[in-house]
Amino acid sequence: MDPIVIPDEPRGLDSSDRKFPPEYDGHFDRLLITREEIKDRANALADLIHKDYKGKRPVLLCVLKGANNFYMHLSEALQDLCQGFYTEFLRVSSYDGLNSTGMLEIGGGLKYKDIEGKDVILVEDIVDTGHTLFNLLPVLKSEAKPLSVECCTLLSKRLDKPAHYSAKYVGFTIPNHFVIGFGLDYNELYRDLQDIWVISQKGIDFDQS
Ligand code: 5GP
Repeated sequence: MDPIVIPDEPRGLDSSDRKFPPEYDGHFDRLLITREEIKDRANALADLIHKDYKGKRPVLLCVLKGANNFYMHLSEALQDLCQGFYTEFLRVSSYDGLNSTGMLEIGGGLKYKDIEGKDVILVEDIVDTGHTLFNLLPVLKSEAKPLSVECCTLLSKRLDKPAHYSAKYVGFTIPNHFVIGFGLDYNELYRDLQDIWVISQKGIDFDQS
């Protein structure tokens, strides 16, 4: 199933009924994807995963912190389908503000033996340049020796250059903007938004101190 394409042009979504902490007022350029759309899409992705992993028990490996909200929706949808899975968490950071640092820090306490010999589905919030997954996958494969590794990402950015890695399961492809909400942050802010938004200059300049 192809991803849902969020067009470059604004879709004219009505944001007046969206809830967010009042201190975020003016921090968004536009509403990009609603939580209802995300939920529907998580259900559809769970259907796909269930078809591919029926009778198997893959490890759902959540890439923290950004994928946490998506992970919860996806795992709930898999539970509704009576699809068995193990849960594991991994922490990876590659962004500093708006810029990919190009360096990868892996942490979060994952023990490689917990995924050894198992089918692994990495659950990601967003694939941008694809650098993170391109660098993470060889490490996981060589250190943990899983049976297989695929990636399920909520978002994938449409860039001018081809990404270094393409996920098998993709929720939405989005224009090349910096997005926040639904677990995605800007310097640790905005993860607490229910929907996904394009950040505004005021949102970038916001000084939390
Ligand atoms: P990549 O290595 O694919 O360039 O970037 C992957 C990581 O960078 C994501 O897991 C995410 O943490 C961060 N990232 C990339 N683009 C965005 C974005 O538009 N918004 C936010 N909040 N994080 C992003």
